[in-house]
Amino acid sequence: MKLVAKIRLDANTEQAKLLLRTLETANECANWMSNQAWEYKVFTPFSLHKIVYREARERFPLSSQVVVRLLSKVCDAYKKDKKVMRRFSKHGAISYDSRILSYGENRVSIWTLDGRESIPYSAGPRQKELLKHQHGESDLIYSRGKWYLAATCDITDPPQEVVDDWLGVDLGVAEIAADSDGQAFSGSTVKGIRYRHRKLRSKLQAAQSRSAKRHLKKLSGKEARFATDVNHCIAKQIVVKAKRTKRGISIEDLTGIRQRIRARRPHRAVLHSWAFAQLGEFLTYKCVLAGVPLVKVDPRNSSRECSNCGHTEKLNRPSQSKFRCRSCGYTANADYNAALNLRGRASVNRPIVERLPDSSGGFQPQLQATCFSEW
Ligand SMILES: [Zn+2]
Repeated sequence: MKLVAKIRLDANTEQAKLLLRTLETANECANWMSNQAWEYKVFTPFSLHKIVYREARERFPLSSQVVVRLLSKVCDAYKKDKKVMRRFSKHGAISYDSRILSYGENRVSIWTLDGRESIPYSAGPRQKELLKHQHGESDLIYSRGKWYLAATCDITDPPQEVVDDWLGVDLGVAEIAADSDGQAFSGSTVKGIRYRHRKLRSKLQAAQSRSAKRHLKKLSGKEARFATDVNHCIAKQIVVKAKRTKRGISIEDLTGIRQRIRARRPHRAVLHSWAFAQLGEFLTYKCVLAGVPLVKVDPRNSSRECSNCGHTEKLNRPSQSKFRCRSCGYTANADYNAALNLRGRASVNRPIVERLPDSSGGFQPQLQATCFSEW
């Protein structure tokens, strides 16, 4: 599985200036190549290489490998369509490979206009762990005056454990997530901060000034980073629990979550829909890393169905937090009931797949692994 580790380069003033010159020169070169590609109507790296490589080396003081990487950047940009000439921003990200960038314990050695530069970097424990598997390209990113590297890491998936029970996980409102053991993973702090930000944001939006716009941008970044951190923590807790108890994880299929949230749960507007999608993504990759099977089940009516008798009715859920079955009288926390349904749906899904007859008309006993192959 490919994941991206993001690390911050702690460049000193001189190094920062050098990186900036390197980035600007590279983008200038990319724009020149884009111009050539457009003029000659040549958009594949191999053919464009023949036309522009030599001249690019003469025009720009860039290493051959940087020029080759830029050729790919230009051709990639034309992949989507060739209707307009592509322009690259002055400070757009550029990619490096192992020939022009290498990672050490605490420093990177990176190619610049003045040759190789050794620059210290900072990374959290999560990113450091990922970096051990660094393989392939890295992007040099300049953002808000700081320097980052986004490093591609290739992680060998450990074999998935065979499980006979599932931990249902419902993504909720009051709590970020609730599982079928009745444990809630609280989002109260996140929600509080989001609410505060939202109020501040509408004020700023009303102000319309340039400083207000700047402030808004900063705010959204801060909020997003905070929510990302909370999602990481929650996803980790859930996966660790499932692994410890030898269970798989069952979550609702989040495809089209944005539309569904808008249509079905307008009160969830406080929470960004991307945060749900992100939690789903984090759960997915952490499961792969831990060898925990994950299944995404049909979410329809998961909050209206009674986990005790199966009766499904809108009125089963008199309030946001309460579930009370109109048929059997079962009552529970609504998120907990939904999580139980997701657990049940995972268990129901499996035997059906396992009993699929193979081509010889018999039964394949080992379909268990392929059952989750798409996750
Ligand atoms: Zn019931």
